[in-house]
Amino acid sequence: MRNQKSESLFERSKKIVPGGVHSPVRAFKGVGGTPVFIQSARGAELEDVDSHRYVDFCMSWGPLMLGHQDPEVLESVQAALHRGWSFGTAEPYSLELAELMTQTIPWLQKVRFVNSGTEAVMAALRVARAATGRSKILKFDGCYHGHVDSMLVKAGSGLAEMASPDSAGVSAQVASETLVVPLDDLAQLRQVFELHGKEIAAVIVEPIPANNGLLLQRPEFLSELSKLAKKAGSLVIFDEVITGFRMAWGGVAEKSGVVPDLVTYGKVIGGGFPVGAYGGRADLMDWVAPSGPVYQAGTLSANPIAMTAGLATLKKIRRENFYSTLESRTEVLAQEIEKMGQKAGIPLKVQRAASLFWCIFGKIQTEDGFVRHPGQIPEEHKGIYSKVFHSLLDQGVYLAPSAFEVSFLSRAHQEEHYNRLTEALGRALGKI
Ligand SMILES: *Cc1c(COP(=O)(O)O)cnc(C)c1O
Repeated sequence: MRNQKSESLFERSKKIVPGGVHSPVRAFKGVGGTPVFIQSARGAELEDVDSHRYVDFCMSWGPLMLGHQDPEVLESVQAALHRGWSFGTAEPYSLELAELMTQTIPWLQKVRFVNSGTEAVMAALRVARAATGRSKILKFDGCYHGHVDSMLVKAGSGLAEMASPDSAGVSAQVASETLVVPLDDLAQLRQVFELHGKEIAAVIVEPIPANNGLLLQRPEFLSELSKLAKKAGSLVIFDEVITGFRMAWGGVAEKSGVVPDLVTYGKVIGGGFPVGAYGGRADLMDWVAPSGPVYQAGTLSANPIAMTAGLATLKKIRRENFYSTLESRTEVLAQEIEKMGQKAGIPLKVQRAASLFWCIFGKIQTEDGFVRHPGQIPEEHKGIYSKVFHSLLDQGVYLAPSAFEVSFLSRAHQEEHYNRLTEALGRALGKI
């Protein structure tokens, strides 16, 4: 058996951990089969417990802009460990990270560190409700904002105001405070603001939706959304947990020129350690305790090891400023991938943004050829992706174990890694 040790660890894990994993997608349910258990990683490669090596295009779901075990980050973290790993009081390390972020991102006047993207979203929503004195939040179907109750909702049958829980355990009452509108539908967005504008505390959006495939929006999407919110007196929250410091230093806000009132971060800012952050306008952040009445706290918030890792990661990104290099590499890779589809006679399109890319298998039925909301993903996509995923896995290439998750490039990915992907993909498609 090729993955004997992984299989046996998974059997043990399933007995005592729900589904055998600590985050659902890791169980491989989306692609079938048994998850490989990873024992170590370096650069752009993973090694599993059965000693197979993989080129990693999942990269821990985004935090590892510099790849696994970047030497500078490693050195900083090692030094930090020798200073102690949790103080539970004020310390200088988070200050340095907070200063770096606020001094370089104009709309981030104040910031608070938490331990995950979910926590950041939860707190930002609370601040928005407090500051506006309103209770409703508007979100988009196809955007992910972590697992806070009020965001685990889906649109009801047709009507935007009839949202319902999208997870067991979320009460209908909580769901009713969230309005859900489709992506790529400005008419419905306008209508919801007309009907409910005065009740909406904030509209929260992934400014480039990257958690249900990479759903590229039309250029006017963010500016229209921002105009509508402003007119209604609602706040705009950019959830830049995945896009922050990845699309550009200042995330999509910098790239689009649309300025949010509040912004949430995670992933890249911890460099692979558990860090989240929320921030934005000073007058809004002053609502947060202890300067204001919005309670939010954390025993391990601004943990010195995590802060040091985040700081070392961001400093290196800032110094090297490799965004355009990484983007052009992604573009070339995307073209090579699409060529493989053509060769095999299988419809394959790559949607990409900066160092994110998403392979779409199957015939896209839209007029302009783009997939902009979940309903436009071809039916055959998931089935083909699962076959491709397993063939690549057997050939030493690790993609996200879900057809609806994007792939990530890092600074550590080199020509040989891209080639391994396209060559393996060619063989995989040839067999379908
Ligand atoms: C990953 C992600 C989250 C959740 O962050 P966690 O650290 O997993 O809690 C929220 N929003 C977006 C846009 C994300 O990509």
